[in-house]
Amino acid sequence: MNLTEEKKRIEELKNIINENNEAYYIYDSPKISDFEYDELFRELKRLEEKYPQLITKDSPTQRVGDKILREFKEVTHKYRLYSLDNSNNYDDLRKWYERIKKEYPNSGELELVLELKIDGLSCALTYEKGELVLGATRGNGITGENISANIKEIKSIPQKLTKPVSIDVRGEVYMPVSSFEKLNEQNMEDGIKEFANPRNAAAGSLRQLNPAITGRRDLHFFAYTLIPEDKTLFNTHKEGLDLLKELGFEVNPNHYLIKGINGIIEKCAYWENARFNLDYATDGMVIKVNDIHKQNELGYTSRAPKWATAFKFPPEEVWTKLEDIELSVGKTGIVTPVAVLTPVQLAGTTVKRASLHNFDEIQRLRINKGNQVLIKKAAEIIPKVIRKNENEDLGVYKEPEECPVCHSKLIKQDGEVALYCPNSRNCPAQIKGRIEYWASKEALDIDGVGPTLVEKLWDKQLINDFADLYKLTTEDLMSLDLIKEKSADNIYGAIQASKNQTMTKFLTALGIKHIGKETADLIACEFPDLESIKNTSIDDLVKINGIGDKAAQSIVEFFNDEYNKEILKKLKEYGVEPKGSSFEKISDVFEGKTFVITGTLSQPRSFFEEKIKKLGGKTSSSVSKKTSYVLAGENPGSKFDKASSLGVIILTERDFNLLSEGNIYE
Ligand code: NAD
Repeated sequence: MNLTEEKKRIEELKNIINENNEAYYIYDSPKISDFEYDELFRELKRLEEKYPQLITKDSPTQRVGDKILREFKEVTHKYRLYSLDNSNNYDDLRKWYERIKKEYPNSGELELVLELKIDGLSCALTYEKGELVLGATRGNGITGENISANIKEIKSIPQKLTKPVSIDVRGEVYMPVSSFEKLNEQNMEDGIKEFANPRNAAAGSLRQLNPAITGRRDLHFFAYTLIPEDKTLFNTHKEGLDLLKELGFEVNPNHYLIKGINGIIEKCAYWENARFNLDYATDGMVIKVNDIHKQNELGYTSRAPKWATAFKFPPEEVWTKLEDIELSVGKTGIVTPVAVLTPVQLAGTTVKRASLHNFDEIQRLRINKGNQVLIKKAAEIIPKVIRKNENEDLGVYKEPEECPVCHSKLIKQDGEVALYCPNSRNCPAQIKGRIEYWASKEALDIDGVGPTLVEKLWDKQLINDFADLYKLTTEDLMSLDLIKEKSADNIYGAIQASKNQTMTKFLTALGIKHIGKETADLIACEFPDLESIKNTSIDDLVKINGIGDKAAQSIVEFFNDEYNKEILKKLKEYGVEPKGSSFEKISDVFEGKTFVITGTLSQPRSFFEEKIKKLGGKTSSSVSKKTSYVLAGENPGSKFDKASSLGVIILTERDFNLLSEGNIYE
């Protein structure tokens, strides 16, 4: 680009950014992703650094936020609120640190505080002699919107402090991801526009003209800055955070006091993945100089403090093209649409496919092949399609009428959104799915028997169901392409070794609708053998704690079906029979991990202790450096504090559930 082109681009960028600021800050309804916005912002900053003479006062790089909504009363902040400069790579983070360190050549490594960057709405609270007198949005940093009445609806914001001090507090109002999802589901049912993300949901819920609406939304507040009238109250940022806690505020427990930049980078890398297990959105980490005296010396630019910076995580959302919609038929006949995407980088992995859940979801998203779609990785590991480019209208993908594999007419079952292929006995996709599942890691874990082998065996008509695996000979296996004697022997051995299984594994492997590993375990605990399960009734099954109507009905139907009876008979003839078992280790996900449980959880403590044991972990009653995780419920007490001070990972019940499903936390 030459000078004229670059000048033109600066103007263009300012306009685009200003338009998006308005959509984001004033109407809580962004049109582009944060990642795209940040890219535009950085491009403008780079050009302005090249041509400082072109920087104007109204440039978005020189100011904070945007105008305020007319409907609210305007307030002038006693202390100005700033934004944060940010980078998205560790080199820039090191450069920021080196710049500051140069100012203090004799201080050695500087003390820094690292905090999670909560993706919510920043708020300024004013307390006089311990009483809350004002709550305001950041606005443009100099003036904001008076939202005192709404702020009073947020339970984690104390109306009265534990001490009669006069202070200003800065923090982030946020909505937990689970509450955001519920709110959007409700909005969808009510035909109201859904929020793009938890941040916009929090902002939209807080900036309500009717505070009662705010009160009905699940909003929380993490405090991160304390500005006391009495400047002698503390000398470091960390002391300020501790005092905030003492005064009655919630301070995010995941913060660290670290010397030098290396430890900071290590922790940022850790949280890049660990953040997906939290029930609130974070878009990065904030790094602050700990010493308040040094903070004051370093000062501010027109937009941000020089003593702090943010490290932004790679985008959780990205646009790509929906190339195709594939229909996959599962072992129970459910037909699931899967989005096939132009490969794209998202949160550190290349994404080629995304889940679309069911056809109601396709209707809701109003998508079709060829649409540009926004995909996202949130708490879940499998990416999800969030929305399409609103400017494109390619119609909506039509729900199929026939099974893509056996061409049976698809059906919907009572009260379920899923489309089913009813041809469970003869649909090749369902039969192959059940055979694959029988041998899969989740079920009997038969080494060497995966989708490719099942396909080959099926094509050669060597098997018609999973029981037929046990009549295979080494010669049968060697008759398949690329299977040599040694591997045929191994596969044969693995199949034979799978004959003796616990009841839990056997029941799981049958692939019965609504019966996963945990439900199978509950049934296995109650019935001594297969015969008694075959003879049970729905009434008896629902008496078991944890078994619902659907699961009970499904079990009874399965064992009364003639086709299934035939398979069970064959299995028995081949010597495949479950051993009764009341307790069984389900998996190794918690192998080598020690848990401490504290606070009130949704189930008795024994429930979690048993689950931890079943997943290969141990429990202990006291927190030490050796503790892997603390599972904390409500009112957690001193174990929580000890875990925070030792840097032990603290899990909410939701985090725990995600972790137990095998989602990676470290
Ligand atoms: P920012 O969100 O990048 O960073 C500053 C803010 O971080 C603070 O004001 C505060 O609210 C928050 N924060 C969270 N945790 C904190 C902590 N522990 N300590 C200190 N602050 C903490 O800056 P911004 O000016 O609020 O917004 C700019 C960002 O907003 C952009 O980088 C972009 O991601 C997003 N944005 C997006 C669009 C869009 O159209 N998608 C438009 C405008 C802005």
